[in-house]
Amino acid sequence: TQTITLASRPKGVPTAENFTFETRKLPPLAAGQVLLKTLYISVDPYMRGRMNEGKSYVPPFELGQPIAGGAVAEVIESQSEALPVGSLVVGSLPWQEFSVADGQGLSRVPAGPAPVSYYLGLLGMPGLTAYFGLLDICQPKAGETVVVSGAAGAVGMVVGQLAKIQGARVIGTAGSDEKVAYLKSLGFDEAINYKTADLPAALAAAAPNGIDCYFDNVGGAITDAVYNRLNNHARIALCGQISSYNATEAPVGPRPEGKLLTTSARLQGFIVSNYHQRFPEGVQQLSEWYAQGKLRYEETITEGFEQIPAAFLGLFQGENTGKAIVKVA
Ligand code: NDP
Repeated sequence: TQTITLASRPKGVPTAENFTFETRKLPPLAAGQVLLKTLYISVDPYMRGRMNEGKSYVPPFELGQPIAGGAVAEVIESQSEALPVGSLVVGSLPWQEFSVADGQGLSRVPAGPAPVSYYLGLLGMPGLTAYFGLLDICQPKAGETVVVSGAAGAVGMVVGQLAKIQGARVIGTAGSDEKVAYLKSLGFDEAINYKTADLPAALAAAAPNGIDCYFDNVGGAITDAVYNRLNNHARIALCGQISSYNATEAPVGPRPEGKLLTTSARLQGFIVSNYHQRFPEGVQQLSEWYAQGKLRYEETITEGFEQIPAAFLGLFQGENTGKAIVKVA
């Protein structure tokens, strides 16, 4: 099978040279194992952290070993009663066209109205991140103002729509005028192009009553501007900091502690897997809202196994709207 391994650890922004394409021979199936054909591969910002040395909340990728991440695959040979030929599974798999697995950590993709790739997006890890981060940590109430950064991405577009379902006023930030227009078409009350706007002025205009909830996907200057407009008892879900994932020096900026103190705000970081026991509840509720037409979703699908590194690198250039996916077969 074709496989993509980690050739070197990036310094700063990753490049194509950090990845190697190899052909590897797969072992014959043992009892309980299945042969999987990869259909869709998810590229995600958190994978940048796994390219570094040193343990974070997930172990680093090993040099010379396949990169792995979320994928949807089809069982094409089976020595497992639980996973007959033709089953569709979702879980963490190596960046390979084919792989051998024992089924651990994989779940069956349920039949339903949603495209199977949505189990890597709206009905998978990013959707659950939005669901628990917003509803459990931010807890927006009707009439409150919610800001989400990275709003046109896989997580962000779900956050904004969920906040609308809760009856909040929703403001998103994103990196192009096309994304801003898209967010408004999704029902966001306001959307700001952070690359061209004067952020403090744009936020003041969009959030005249201040900000009650902030779902932070990006950090940096956007977050600095949001903290300046927090209301008393604001809740902040610290989900991601993509603006600093490629930083070679520790980012510096205004210190937020004073704002948190004077507003009695609550800042909470979280990892979606903290909520793994509640994933069924999240998938059920997201599926229901999707089926009722209350949630819409977007994917940027790149075709071809050889495009995986490029699709991953594109995350850091804002090339995706919604979930970045590679269609492998
Ligand atoms: P996205 O689909 O949002 O893709 C990344 C987007 O980030 C790009 O499209 C780009 O959009 C934006 N971006 C890239 N560089 C910058 C920058 N320097 N400043 C501001 N925006 C930038 O990814 P996800 O929705 O999958 O993830 C969003 C965030 O959530 C990430 O930080 C990720 O690490 C985090 N995350 C955290 C989880 C958790 O458990 N805590 C789980 C899943 C995701 P634009 O055009 O707007 O710049």
